[in-house]
Amino acid sequence: MTTTDDALGPIYSQVVHRNPGESEYHQAVKEVFDSLGRVIAKQPHYGQSALIERLCEPERQVIFRVPWLDDQGNVQINRGFRVQFNSALGPYKGGLRFHPSVNLGIVKFLGFEQVFKNALTGMPIGGGKGGADFDPKGRADMEIMRFCQSYMTELSRHVGEYTDVPAGDIGVGQREIGYMFGQYKRMTNRYESGVLTGKGLNWGGSRVRREATGYGTVYFLAEMLKTKGLALDGRKAVVSGSGNVAIYTIEKVQQLGGRVVACSDSDGFVVDNDGIDLNLLKEIKEGRRGRIAKYAELKGNGAHFSSGGTIWDVACDIALPCATQNELTGRDAKLLMQNGVLAVCEGANMPCTPEAVRMFAEAEILFAPGKASNAGGVTTSALEMQQNASRDSWTFEQTDAKLAAIMKDIHDYCAATADEYGLPGNYVAGANIGGFVRVADAMSALGVI
Ligand code: GLU
Repeated sequence: MTTTDDALGPIYSQVVHRNPGESEYHQAVKEVFDSLGRVIAKQPHYGQSALIERLCEPERQVIFRVPWLDDQGNVQINRGFRVQFNSALGPYKGGLRFHPSVNLGIVKFLGFEQVFKNALTGMPIGGGKGGADFDPKGRADMEIMRFCQSYMTELSRHVGEYTDVPAGDIGVGQREIGYMFGQYKRMTNRYESGVLTGKGLNWGGSRVRREATGYGTVYFLAEMLKTKGLALDGRKAVVSGSGNVAIYTIEKVQQLGGRVVACSDSDGFVVDNDGIDLNLLKEIKEGRRGRIAKYAELKGNGAHFSSGGTIWDVACDIALPCATQNELTGRDAKLLMQNGVLAVCEGANMPCTPEAVRMFAEAEILFAPGKASNAGGVTTSALEMQQNASRDSWTFEQTDAKLAAIMKDIHDYCAATADEYGLPGNYVAGANIGGFVRVADAMSALGVI
């Protein structure tokens, strides 16, 4: 495969130089550049008009103070971000992450990924991402509300249904979207449903949005398995994480006959050889906002919690990393392969390190990069925008059928693009090149802006 060093080395060096210390952003750019050498060799016009350089420079980056009052009456300060990366294909679209690890480099890596992901969906959405270094863990509901209101007080100047449409990511679910939507409505005196997605069903939300990222990941996985004559039925899976993406990934794997034997949170992981009891998991995570250790305690028989080691020590046929970036390392990849893993499908954004991705490619293990396989969330957000624009509300079945069809299209497009560029079965190349040409063609048509 052509590497960054051959074709795009100088541009990559410039990205590193202009964005010092932003290692996750560098990683995301490098991964895409590693696929683009072939495109430029075949169609040199993509290397002209500083198109690639423009693609790596966000259109706008907003950083702001978020002051709020905690329950003790103390003033707290957090840092808020919104990076509006690329609007060639539509209004900026992408989630908000509330987590103490959030910084500009993290938001830029996520925004960059989002540009390609959103292009792959074929929907009219550009790419952006935002968030804050706020830690929601252990915060009371009213503290969350005050934080969200303060965050939106500034963000409201920069978003709108035709401008930029945020949604959830880690630490931001329907509750937070509700507090932010309420504040936006109050500030603008407009019931502008299309300004945020991931809303509740009775205030402009879409059916299937909650399930969409997880379901979509498994729809992609099933398509990928099908190319090798395989299916999920009877397979043993490990799903890292236990948030929104992980829960609905587990649900869909189970519906398709697979057995999920482990899941995790930042404290450790649980193994349950009977298969994870989804109702119990939902009750702990969605109901009480509790920790995964509680699962083993309540389930008793057969389930155990481990705070040491990693979840990838658990043998499986299918690995679904659904927690966070760089959670699956080269060491983990080696172990998974020793244990006979058949496929790895990313539900989170960039959960596998570059070394792990390279090892899967060398061993020809089926591997789906998140920007393709986890696109179901943003796809259903775009479907929510369609319903908002037409003041309509679709049934679960209708919406799920659209999601499944789009995930199949994304899969087929990535596979066909990989074939076209002489890398059959390489979904990383297929996703990077496939997303790139759509954004690049639109950018070229719109002139140097
Ligand atoms: N945060 C999700 C993602 O990584 C969803 C974004 C959205 O729905 O706008 O794609």
